[in-house]
Amino acid sequence: MREQTLAAPIEFSGVGLHTGQPVAMRLLPAPAGKGIVFRRVDLDNFELRADVGSVERVAYATTLMSRGVWISTVEHLLSALYALGVDNAVIELDNFEVPILDGSALPYTEAIRQTGITQLQAPRTYMRIEKPFVLEESGKSIAIYPSDSLSLEYEIGFKHPLIGHQKLEVKITPDDYRMLIAPARTFGFYHEVEALQAAGLVRGGSLENAIVLTETGMLNETSLRYPDEFVRHKILDLLGDFALIGQQVLGRLTANRAGHALHTRFVGALLESTSHWSSGTLTPAEVL
Ligand SMILES: [Zn+2]
Repeated sequence: MREQTLAAPIEFSGVGLHTGQPVAMRLLPAPAGKGIVFRRVDLDNFELRADVGSVERVAYATTLMSRGVWISTVEHLLSALYALGVDNAVIELDNFEVPILDGSALPYTEAIRQTGITQLQAPRTYMRIEKPFVLEESGKSIAIYPSDSLSLEYEIGFKHPLIGHQKLEVKITPDDYRMLIAPARTFGFYHEVEALQAAGLVRGGSLENAIVLTETGMLNETSLRYPDEFVRHKILDLLGDFALIGQQVLGRLTANRAGHALHTRFVGALLESTSHWSSGTLTPAEVL
């Protein structure tokens, strides 16, 4: 397997979920070794690599920051790029929050698949998990175990009639991601909206880009995209935060009742725990 990038530029526009501000975004092809890099065209093309070392805030979204420059709510876009195997891309933005679109990763996934993916010359490096690595914190946990492919399992529990206990494991291939994970939307609770908006959050939130839960059901008049859409969105979010590891990973990742804070702490801790993984290209037998 070799490194990959986009076959051509792709444009999106919309509003940020938290800022409510309009933003135009372009995804551009990039050479091998570039990685995923955000570029603020409104700030002299300042570039910020999608890297766990740049994580600045993890409340209700994942925000990166370098030298005072922010890129907010990166997780849905990074999730789609990672699942589809895009190793290198430049993401141009004219504001600081990635557009929320419909609250899922489906618009990104569909656009990238329609545009196509190009193989580059450089062989792709994989992180191979050699020993289990576990992070636990007050009833929440994330762990990763050795495996020949990447899979994600998530388990959540909410005292809500539409959620309850949900658990799902998905092997991350481009096709399975598109069918099973990408369409799952962001969700939130109506009783929290006022407090969140007072804190400068969810100002772009609407029934067009989120499932809004009431005490007994939801405000949206459309139906859920899956009966367990909530745990699927958690898998989408986890993959987007996990993408901040900066390389493709061979391992079985499991999470229980976690969120952006634990996701990103796990990625940083795993990168530092160098005795738990090795890094290298695939052998010819593995490629077959
Ligand atoms: Zn999300």
